[in-house]
Amino acid sequence: MTTDHGHPAVRMYIAGEWCEGGSGRTAPIVNPATEEAIGDVPLATIADLDRALEAADRGFRVWRGTSIAERSRILHTAADLLTERAAEVGRIMTREQGKPLAEATGEARRVADTLRWHIEDARRAYGRIIPSAPGTVLSVRREPVGPVAAFVPWNFPAGGPMRKISSALTAGCSIVIKASEETPATAAALVACFADAGLPAGVLNLVFGEPAEVSARLIASPVTRLVAFTGSVPVGKLLAAAAGEVMKPTLMELGGHAPVIVCADADAGTAARRAARAKFVNAGQVCTSPSRFLVHESLVEDFTAEFVKAAESVVVGDGLAPGTTMGPLANERRLVAMQRLTADATQRGAKVLTGGERLDRAGYFFAPTVLTDVPADAALLHEEPFGPLAPIVPFTELDEALRTANELPYGLAAYGFTRSAATAERLAAELEAGILSINHCGGSVHEAPSGGVKESGHGREGGPEALDSYLVTKRVSHLLA
Ligand code: NAD
Repeated sequence: MTTDHGHPAVRMYIAGEWCEGGSGRTAPIVNPATEEAIGDVPLATIADLDRALEAADRGFRVWRGTSIAERSRILHTAADLLTERAAEVGRIMTREQGKPLAEATGEARRVADTLRWHIEDARRAYGRIIPSAPGTVLSVRREPVGPVAAFVPWNFPAGGPMRKISSALTAGCSIVIKASEETPATAAALVACFADAGLPAGVLNLVFGEPAEVSARLIASPVTRLVAFTGSVPVGKLLAAAAGEVMKPTLMELGGHAPVIVCADADAGTAARRAARAKFVNAGQVCTSPSRFLVHESLVEDFTAEFVKAAESVVVGDGLAPGTTMGPLANERRLVAMQRLTADATQRGAKVLTGGERLDRAGYFFAPTVLTDVPADAALLHEEPFGPLAPIVPFTELDEALRTANELPYGLAAYGFTRSAATAERLAAELEAGILSINHCGGSVHEAPSGGVKESGHGREGGPEALDSYLVTKRVSHLLA
């Protein structure tokens, strides 16, 4: 079923059934490239949330008791359906989030592989037998933690939900996930693949609603055993505090403000091209997006010239239009934030070398922007921009760059460019970040963990570490009678 705008009619998925919210309340879905409402998302009532929790409770018992072979078969079928539907999921994502179609379709294909990787990894979630006294068996077992309450944002409408869903389901947990009300049809398309693959009712439940109301209900419920959140630091703190009240573990994937340190011995042109490419992916709305460019003073002129060239070659437009390499910002809040951060920096003396403005057309388009002479007290150097702003700041000594890089309370991603192995090792040892890339700004891979330190959160997604949050460790000491 589609709306008049050709967007799927969105419903929630509770206890194995697609449903509207009990109150009939909805919120509009807006295409950020046109500012048109293209559909509506139903908002859950407390009764809907309680149904989802009851379903997850029952679903957990069913899923935990399902053999790993059967679980794997169902989940592989879901991954195959997702691969088959990736082109359509990509179109849905671009319409409601704005990113270029190639990025969106790539994301939809990639999440099928995320799921496949986690299925195979979970088959090897071994415990261990510990040497003990004769007549006793001392073992350590890993068991699913239980029903998970998960909250994911709008920047990766498929990637965000899949990281939580794949870890939960492969670990043997059930899940109630509140996906973003701004990109709900993508999440629903993803969940449909699991439903169509024959996932038992209640194992996976999808809800939308008033975020604060939903999280309060799901976190407080005795059914929920793990709270998993991706989003901003302030909201992460709220949810972690609420979880602390009821002593529930949390997995927090929060924001950052990733420094890029370009050392004196780096190739300025290569560093600028690689960093600029990463900067404008998803219009800068990535938690690991490079966002503070600390460049050795001897390279800053060449680096800046090449970066500006790269920024000016970005083709900004509707993500559905061929040739577009950067879409609009996903919502009006980001557009307003870009205007505020740019105005604050320029009022304090920063120079805009390119961009700096909203594009003069409908849609939340903001030009790829490069700034220099940004003073240390500008909000842009402290607040995660989460958009296409690139402040370039020169440094003289590496010590000074490391101090600047580490001085914020965040610690998600960091990047370094150097040709010296010794300097690379120093960056690896001293940068306070959960994810460090040297001589490139590549994205995450399924095989390796992602996550933050300091206020950027705790727990890891991706890699074998992803299961750690979703499994509990049980010591069993068995005296053979
Ligand atoms: P926000 O802080 O209001 O919301 C972030 C996400 O949290 C959204 O998906 C929202 O629905 C959800 N949320 C908000 N309040 C909630 C609550 N009480 N309970 C449960 N969920 C809640 O901000 P926003 O305008 O959507 O995004 C702005 C900032 O969020 C960005 O500047 C960026 O720092 C951060 N962000 C980070 C990520 C990430 O991948 N880590 C993704 C999106 C946004």
